[in-house]
Amino acid sequence: MQNFTGQKVVISGASRGIGKAITLAFLEQGATVIGIYGGNKEAAAIMLEECSRFDNRLQLHQCDVANPLQVENFFKQIEEEFDTIDILINNAGIRRDKLLAMMDEESWQQVIDINLTGTFLMCRSAVLLMLKQKYGRIVNITSPVANLGFAGQTNYGASKAGQIGLTRSLCKETARKKITVNCVSPGFIDTELIADLTPEQVKEYKKIVPMRRFGKVEEIAAAVLFLASKDAAYITGSVLDVNGGL
Ligand code: NAP
Repeated sequence: MQNFTGQKVVISGASRGIGKAITLAFLEQGATVIGIYGGNKEAAAIMLEECSRFDNRLQLHQCDVANPLQVENFFKQIEEEFDTIDILINNAGIRRDKLLAMMDEESWQQVIDINLTGTFLMCRSAVLLMLKQKYGRIVNITSPVANLGFAGQTNYGASKAGQIGLTRSLCKETARKKITVNCVSPGFIDTELIADLTPEQVKEYKKIVPMRRFGKVEEIAAAVLFLASKDAAYITGSVLDVNGGL
């Protein structure tokens, strides 16, 4: 495992699920993490408490990644305190599943705004800071739904496919500045995001996965840390599937 001592990492959705595991993994490896959460103050407080052993290397900020002004202000604070950042992980994401014929515009727009526009806004501010030092790692958390499709997830699938398109174009803009941009695509991972699945659905979906199990948040964190490491210097514009063979 790469050591990230001295590196500054911004992670969205850092308070729960996959983002929490990624945050813990970076903290374990010596990084300073500036995390973002959406609205769940209780989860953020628990996370801070759990991380008190990391010598104040974790900050958590409430910031809506879909709100341009909030994202801009968040990065202004970072620039004042740290000047630049080394790593950005766009992990915040939501689902609002409905069949397309029944889908209200709000369910469509919220998912696109948080999952895709949020990724754009965070990348825009982060790249400007990374350019100052001509180094950076960006990892966007997408989903197999982007390629495979899933009934009830046209909004989510479009947002996740959009993240891949953004990644492949942005990496071409930043390659010469040593800023890599990649995706990690987790399969079914046991978090609150999929807590609404019935036991029957869980059983059914596990049958679809060749490894016959859901993934662990730590298995996603390991892939993210690799792409964020100096060892991954020649990997950009790629999508790393971590899905048990889906
Ligand atoms: P989760 O447990 O529901 O956690 C979501 C995190 O995102 C929370 O920290 C939440 O903060 C934050 N968030 C939500 N809306 C936000 C906003 N507008 N601004 C800032 N932060 C916001 O989800 P997860 O399962 O860990 O998923 C993380 C990522 O992995 C998502 O992009 C998801 O699409 C992707 N993914 C997950 C799976 C899976 O099976 N779990 C599979 C493939 C891809 P609050 O708690 O404050 O709301």
